Amino acid sequence: MASLTFDDRPVPIAPNQDVLSALLAAGVDAPHSCRAGICQTCLSRAEGEIPAEAQRGLSKAQKEQGYFLPCVCVPKGPLKVLRAGPSLEATEVGVCAIDRLAPTVVRLRLEPCAPFAYRPGQFLSLETPDGCVRSYSIASLPEAEAFLELHVRLLPNGRMGGFIAERLSVGDRLAVRGPFGACYYDEADRDRPLVLVGAGTGLAPLWGILRDALSRGHRGPIRLYHGARERSGLYLSEELAALARERERFSYIPCVLGSLGAADGDVEKAVLEGEPQPDAASYFLCGGGDLVNRVKRALFLRGAQLARLRADVFLPAS
Ligand SMILES: Cc1cc2nc3c(=O)[nH]c(=O)nc-3n(C[C@H](O)[C@H](O)[C@H](O)COP(=O)(O)OP(=O)(O)OC[C@H]3O[C@@H](n4cnc5c(N)ncnc54)[C@H](O)[C@@H]3O)c2cc1C
Repeated sequence: MASLTFDDRPVPIAPNQDVLSALLAAGVDAPHSCRAGICQTCLSRAEGEIPAEAQRGLSKAQKEQGYFLPCVCVPKGPLKVLRAGPSLEATEVGVCAIDRLAPTVVRLRLEPCAPFAYRPGQFLSLETPDGCVRSYSIASLPEAEAFLELHVRLLPNGRMGGFIAERLSVGDRLAVRGPFGACYYDEADRDRPLVLVGAGTGLAPLWGILRDALSRGHRGPIRLYHGARERSGLYLSEELAALARERERFSYIPCVLGSLGAADGDVEKAVLEGEPQPDAASYFLCGGGDLVNRVKRALFLRGAQLARLRADVFLPAS
């Protein structure tokens, strides 16, 4: 039977209730964001029977140390939560650049004050001084760039977007935690076609993964599909087009919804038409859940291998 303790105190938990909601109901100030087991903001440690789904996406070392995701943890037996919330120390970062890449996309460059090891395409959680926490994919290349680069979409009434657009200045200090996730280039894929698909700021991890793959000597073809609702949303398009001219094996396929230009249109349609042999390639799919989940499912049904379909869904904070 499920039972829960936190700080050696019993916490009531109902059958089929997740640990995060039980902790919150008991007044524990447990940080959280997506509540879907993706953003890892609630990453915590426990002793006891941790269900496998509460450790999905964590490293072997984290699993062995009892790290788990309370938001998707429905215990079946006794569970002792040792620490709720940020189990990873925060790293202080200084804001070194804030630029507009598109009318609703800001590029943020952050200089870590302590070593911050990551792979391009992983994500981190960014924290404001007033406690707003959001996940962002990392677009920079650690070997070449001393800063962490994030591409942030500005949403109407967005708390983090509003903070960045209106209150943040170069020189300010913020905190980041991470890195998280497994959406990064794997050298085992070096000879395979690499297909990168994203819409909007889904380009952030892809920009990092693309440059990481090229710098590690990827030998197979690489095709990057970037979708946007408006032409102005196709940011970094000049850089990507220049790279495609330079690198024979790299193709850039911009897609503007509803546009009638040569390579334009719906990004999902472009991918499914442009990838006739899905089983041969490795995929990275990033951005909003509707697109990512639809493309992932369609590619899987056409023969793409699940292990080679890496995806990061940009779930909103709950
Ligand atoms: C693993 C991961 C990686 C991510 N990487 C990035 C990234 O690289 N770049 C990036 O811009 N974002 C990314 N996100 C999303 C990001 O964490 C925030 O959710 C987003 O920036 C909105 O935060 P906000 O505080 O500005 O808006 P909020 O205050 O959270 O939301 C404002 C309003 O917009 C709505 N809303 C939130 N998200 C969406 C959406 N996607 N579509 C429509 N409405 C929405 C909310 O419901 C609310 O009404 C990622 C998310 C995850 C889980």
